[in-house]
Amino acid sequence: MHMRNPFVAILPILFAACVGEPPDEPFYEPPLTDEELAQLPDDSLLDHEHTDLVLVPGPAEDDAAIFDDDEAFAPYDIAVVDDGEQPMTSGQLHALLRWGLHPRASDGLRAAGVASWRITQTIGNAPASAGYHAQDGSVNGQPYTAATDLSTSGMTGTQIHNLLERLAKVGFAAWYRKNGVDGWSGANHIHVVYANCKMKSQLRAQVRSFLVGRNGLVSNRVYTWHAFTAAAKAAVQRKFNQSQQGTTNGGAGVSARINTSGAPLTVRANASTTSAAVGSRADGAYVTITCQKRGQSVTGTYGTSTLWDYIGTGYVADAYVATGSDGQVAPTCQ
Ligand SMILES: [Zn+2]
Repeated sequence: MHMRNPFVAILPILFAACVGEPPDEPFYEPPLTDEELAQLPDDSLLDHEHTDLVLVPGPAEDDAAIFDDDEAFAPYDIAVVDDGEQPMTSGQLHALLRWGLHPRASDGLRAAGVASWRITQTIGNAPASAGYHAQDGSVNGQPYTAATDLSTSGMTGTQIHNLLERLAKVGFAAWYRKNGVDGWSGANHIHVVYANCKMKSQLRAQVRSFLVGRNGLVSNRVYTWHAFTAAAKAAVQRKFNQSQQGTTNGGAGVSARINTSGAPLTVRANASTTSAAVGSRADGAYVTITCQKRGQSVTGTYGTSTLWDYIGTGYVADAYVATGSDGQVAPTCQ
C-alpha cells in the first residue's frame, strides 16, 4: 500500500504511525574536518560545471504538480557489482533513467518522482578531472557519478521545497542552487549527491556538509533556503552509512529501523511467531531488508500487518519496523 492511498486519508489515526518516518528519528553528525572543508567547491570561483550552457534540460513536460506534496515512493537498493567483480546477467541489470547515473540513484530519482527530462547533468564534461561531476567509478559495467543536477523548470518554490525533501528521503544530499542565495552565484538548479554508492572524496565531503545543515560549498555556511526535516537527514545518513563512507557498493536492500518501544525484537526462522527464534534486534537498531513476504498477522507499534521482513538472518514482523511505508518496500522473498 502506498502512503498516498486514499485509506490513509480516511483512517489517519490508524495509519498515522505507518506512514513516513518516525518523528523522533535520532540524528547526529559531527562537523566537517579541515581536510573535508578543503575538498568543497570554492564558491568564489566561476563554476564551469553548472553554467546554463551545461544545464540544458530535455523538452519540458508539465509535471510540476507531481511535487505538490513531499512524499516519495520507497526506493529499493538493488544489488550492484563493482568493476572487476563477476558481471551481472542482463536480467539483473537495472534500466537507468539516464546514462551516467548509479542504478540506485536512478531508482531513487524514480521514487522521488523525477522524470528523465529533469536530469540535466550526470557525468560532467568539465575539462578538469577534479570536477564534482567527474566519473566516480563503474558499476554493473557502466560508468557513473554520484553527483546529478536537476532542472526546476516550471516549479513553484513550494514544489521545489517538496522535491528537496523527497530527494533527501530517498538518500540524496540535495541543494537548490539559487542565484544569489546561500553563497551560490550561477544558474538555478538542484545539485544532488547520492549517498549510497562509492564516490570521490569531494562528494563525500559534500554529503557530510549536507548532513550538518551546510551549503556544500567551501564557505560551508548554514544552508537557509530549505530546512530539511531530521527524518530526511537521517535517511541520507542511513544511506551514507550503508555505503560504508563511500568505499564499497555493498549494502543491497532497504534500510529500516526497529521500533518496539522497548523490548528487543525476536528474529524468526520463518514468517510466524511460532517458528524458531534465531536471534533478536534491539529497539532502535537499523536493519537491512532484502525481501519481504506474508505470514502470520502481528499487531505491533505500527498497527497490524501480515508482512514479515527478511533481514539477512531471519524474519522480523513488519508491524515493528519503520520502513517509511505501510506496504511492501522490497521484493517478495522466494
Ligand atoms: Zn551539480
